Amino acid sequence: IAQDLETISEKRSDSAAAGTSRILVFVRLRPMNKKEKEAGSRCCVKIVNKRDVFLTEFATENDYLRLKRLRGRHFTFDSSFPDSTTQQEVYSTTTAELVEDVLQGKNGSVFCYGATGAGKTYTMLGTVENPGVMVLAIKDLFNKIRQRSFDGNHVVHLSYLEVYNETVRDLLSPGRPLVLREDKQGIVAAGLTQYRAYSTDEVMSLLQQGNQNRTTEPTRANETSSRSHAILQVIVEYQVKDASSNIVNRVGKLSLIDLAGSERALATDQRTLRSLEGANINRSLLALSSCINALVEGKKHIPFRNSKLTQLLKDSLGGACNTVMIANIGPSNLSFGETQNTLHWADRAKEIRTKACDANEEIQVPDSEADQAKLLLELQKENR
Ligand code: ADP
Ligand code: MG
Repeated sequence: IAQDLETISEKRSDSAAAGTSRILVFVRLRPMNKKEKEAGSRCCVKIVNKRDVFLTEFATENDYLRLKRLRGRHFTFDSSFPDSTTQQEVYSTTTAELVEDVLQGKNGSVFCYGATGAGKTYTMLGTVENPGVMVLAIKDLFNKIRQRSFDGNHVVHLSYLEVYNETVRDLLSPGRPLVLREDKQGIVAAGLTQYRAYSTDEVMSLLQQGNQNRTTEPTRANETSSRSHAILQVIVEYQVKDASSNIVNRVGKLSLIDLAGSERALATDQRTLRSLEGANINRSLLALSSCINALVEGKKHIPFRNSKLTQLLKDSLGGACNTVMIANIGPSNLSFGETQNTLHWADRAKEIRTKACDANEEIQVPDSEADQAKLLLELQKENR
């Protein structure tokens, strides 16, 4: 694992043009579940060499090799995790390095993307027996802080928020929606709880609790909505003395993001659902796709303001931030289309460079139906 980490760190900077760094993109395949087995589904994903992902309805090795030449069926990522990969392995490969950076006052973010049921929440939050990236990151953070207690005056704060239906809510203190505003540090949610954390033990239950505060689907009681985006922010502040013995404050921010189900981005058959909800969730994920496209194409104008989600992710995608994307996929041929769509976007995200630059500002806010329709068309074109 240590060796893997080194390579990945090199990858990020090797490819970097001056002053930029690449988004690292990982894919995680979850095991086939009972329901899929009972439905008689076959596995349509094969991961080779911890990097290559083959998407196929066929099942022999020869077929995979042949498919390597077929566009849209073979993808390569920084690492691809087969279904046997442990939570700890996923954490060590994708996020451990960002935790180290946050302790140096840098920003990092990890976001999970994929269809509902593909394993995003399992990867991010996990279970009590198998805690995910959020919990492992905080555990690691406290361990590292303890190890360097000689220079330490680190203060850790946690915030956990949700974007649902273009409304931002505090998951640690449910109540009135929060208003986003721009300050020196970027976009902040006014009045968001900053929970001072002292140890790992309290954190798992805090996060589980927060997760239960996520909006539930009105039609499917007790099921966490697949249309809610959850963002955990871990803020580490500390003071150091510089060469001339001045006291310098440093702040690092790690954002861990569990996105809504990506199948909703083009939910044309979901139109029977309440139209406002449908339109708004489309809006957040559509806006995210538009931003990714604009970033990949090197556009000057990145439409971050098009949704609450993209405003909150502005730092992570276009600012000075080390960013990791984990694309979650399921193995079943019954979700072939969703899986291909997820891999398509993950492949595209590999082209994004983050940089120390906040000039990507723009003012336009598309509120009209026509503007939303335009966004939808753009994405459909993108998706063929
Ligand atoms: P999502 O958040 O993407 O909608 P979940 O994380 O809730 O999906 O996963 C759906 C189900 O599959 C959950 O019951 C979860 O525990 C299980 N699951 C997901 N990924 C894995 C995995 N890697 N190993 C074991 N179970 C998993
Ligand atoms: Mg989930």
